Amino acid sequence: MSWARAALILLVLGAGAAGILALAARAPAELRAATPESGVFAAHLGAEFSDQQVARHGAYRRSSYVGLALGLIVQLGTLLVLARGPIGSLVERLAGLKVPWGLRPSLIALAVIATLLVVTLPLGYVGFEIGHAWGLSTQSVGGWLVDRLRGLLVSGVMGAIAATAFSVLVRWQPRTWWVLGWIVFSVLAVLLAYVWPLVVAPLFNRFEALERGPLRDRVTALAQYAEVEVSDVLVVDASRRSTIENAYIAGIGDSRRIVLYDTLISGGNEDEAAFVVAHELGHQVENHIGKNLAITVAGLAAGFGLLAWMASHTALFSWAGASGVGDLRALPLLLAFVIVVNLVSLPIASAFSRRFETAADEIAVQLTGDPETAVRVFRRLAFRNLADLRPPRIAVWALFSHPPIRDRITAATGGAAP
Ligand SMILES: [Zn+2]
Repeated sequence: MSWARAALILLVLGAGAAGILALAARAPAELRAATPESGVFAAHLGAEFSDQQVARHGAYRRSSYVGLALGLIVQLGTLLVLARGPIGSLVERLAGLKVPWGLRPSLIALAVIATLLVVTLPLGYVGFEIGHAWGLSTQSVGGWLVDRLRGLLVSGVMGAIAATAFSVLVRWQPRTWWVLGWIVFSVLAVLLAYVWPLVVAPLFNRFEALERGPLRDRVTALAQYAEVEVSDVLVVDASRRSTIENAYIAGIGDSRRIVLYDTLISGGNEDEAAFVVAHELGHQVENHIGKNLAITVAGLAAGFGLLAWMASHTALFSWAGASGVGDLRALPLLLAFVIVVNLVSLPIASAFSRRFETAADEIAVQLTGDPETAVRVFRRLAFRNLADLRPPRIAVWALFSHPPIRDRITAATGGAAP
């Protein structure tokens, strides 16, 4: 396939997907503007939501499900187009220019990743506009574009490292590359978990220590009660992008920290923030980061095993004009393989994640002894973040990293309203 033909197909793919999302995301202005009246966070309401609230959140979430599906289609379509010629001719051009062999995997990876970024840009822009239409986004177009460039930098570096490591291994050990690949990529996953909060996250946000005061004292007390080492508790300037409220725990060893969104702190009272910290401490008590890494390592074993089996079928690669798995022309197909494997294993990863979240909620209620605040926090997060209040069962099964809000409320109250 010629460059011009490939560019035309990619243009239609990118613009078409954006158009479909824009159509699918249409919602009546009065539904979008129907912000909930005060008092909806009240704990006595339990897991009760009005039909209008369910419809409003459902309308917003439907567009994000459609956006997710379209994003996958665009990425896979782009990779298949790149595999059918453009990357092959780029590989030949690099060889013709006598570019050193060791640099070629990085350059090919960068070309693939940059193309993916450009083709998914219209779809991402529609997503950005949807965030504004629903009052969630606080970002300017310029800020959003700068974020895309930072994303390109991060995925470009990661892609270049991965492509180089993989190519070197296949070339060096043509028979056992997949065992070595599993080991090397497992080590890279652990390294990434360590450096992500130190190097990657600060590219996108500013982090500050939670200031001294009653909340910090409560965090220290909760950590002592939970018998975990009090890690850094940081506040991130999430409000520069959106009104979404969240918190997370990241890092391993001395890079481990609990991060609270500034929107979460300014959006509620101290009890509520303390409950969220208790939930994050729950993750730490149960070592969920370590367990997630173990799941990743197991997943990599399965992925490399499957890839080794596929590598024995060279016909799969000749479709892309490649001689085998180690040929750089196969790189778009390898990335497509990673996307498909991640997609297929998503229900398993989501099921593990929901278990971990349930456990963290349970510990948070135990630590705070305050199920009423738990319910208020869950309701608040549901309304502020426009969570799907009555999600389709298949969406929960495939995508939900957290149990649906109703289930979290029911679990916190032991099945009854507090
Ligand atoms: Zn959690």
